[in-house]
Amino acid sequence: MLDGIISHQELLRRIDALRVERRLIGPVARVEPECMPPVRYFYQPVERADELALDFTYCVQSPKAVLLPPAEPLLRFDRESGKFRAGPVIDHTPTALIGVHPCDVHAIELLDAVFSNGNADGHYLARRRSLFIVAVDCPEPCTEGVFCRDMETHETDRGFDVILYRLDADRRYGVVFASDAGRAWLNPSLSSGGMRTPNSDDERTFIRYRQNKERAFEPRLPMPRRELPEMMARSYDSLLWEATAQRCYSCGSCNLACPTCYCFDIRDENELNGGGCRLREWDACMARDFALVAGGHNFRAKPGQRLRHRLYRKAAWIEAQTGLHGCVGCARCDRACTAKISIVEMLGQLAEEVQHAGTRP
Ligand code: SF4
Ligand code: SF4
Repeated sequence: MLDGIISHQELLRRIDALRVERRLIGPVARVEPECMPPVRYFYQPVERADELALDFTYCVQSPKAVLLPPAEPLLRFDRESGKFRAGPVIDHTPTALIGVHPCDVHAIELLDAVFSNGNADGHYLARRRSLFIVAVDCPEPCTEGVFCRDMETHETDRGFDVILYRLDADRRYGVVFASDAGRAWLNPSLSSGGMRTPNSDDERTFIRYRQNKERAFEPRLPMPRRELPEMMARSYDSLLWEATAQRCYSCGSCNLACPTCYCFDIRDENELNGGGCRLREWDACMARDFALVAGGHNFRAKPGQRLRHRLYRKAAWIEAQTGLHGCVGCARCDRACTAKISIVEMLGQLAEEVQHAGTRP
């Protein structure tokens, strides 16, 4: 059921109204003729709603960086007049993140769980509590290679304040609210011509939208998502790990591009005057020294061990720990990999291996 119908123009007007009290971040088109594709989209701060490309295909980087910056100071310390002082750096900047596809909404839900459970992370949670999320549904796969349908992340009904469904070529959006803040922002009763409550024609259009969407997303994996953990449990000794990892450069690009990778490292930067800051930076389990510990032992020294570890986390372990998606099927890792190592191809190959093993006499 839709909560409202809004025109593109009215939507832009309401986004501009958000700008009064919030920083705006959303997909912006960058034309780079030397790149493939030559028009790519990136999340970045904007001053005006009409800078946003709401009909973007996919953003090269996920919105993870808005909540967990690649490098951020956790605390600053200094020494003045012989006294040592230290204090946390917390970012509460009110922010509206406009244009998050369902797969990335699922990824943010995972980050929320990871950074809230156990030792709650005040730095992440301060940003998250200051964040207003406007999701934009995908009527069809955003690009080749995605497998969000297999991971059941091509749609979502939570984890955002408002979701928009582009119902027709006139850029008329169906609106669904998931929070009071979302309802207050686009309240249909504050009708101003471009925003209204839905009628029965709109609901019929929405049903057709969902039927077309269902047809547009084809499965790419040979088994349903619920069978992945069992398949992985039977694949630990597969020869595929080392065979595929021969091409791997251990660059960690797959980790950095991934919306559900959340590992980080912490180091202190000291200044000559005795002050400095404690920095948190993204880390990558595919990097050679990720599992290097004191004494020089590396408990995942081989690239094949690291590749296996990454896929086990994505296809089994994160879900076992959190009940949420460890992988949302966005295929950013596949696109980022210069060695053309593909997670969805590997999962398919492992499934074949397991099926053959099961039919062997
Ligand atoms: S593992 Fe790859 S496909 Fe899965 S969420 Fe991360 S980047 Fe996307
Ligand atoms: S991006 Fe590709 S080459 Fe780089 S670490 Fe990941 S799998 Fe290996």
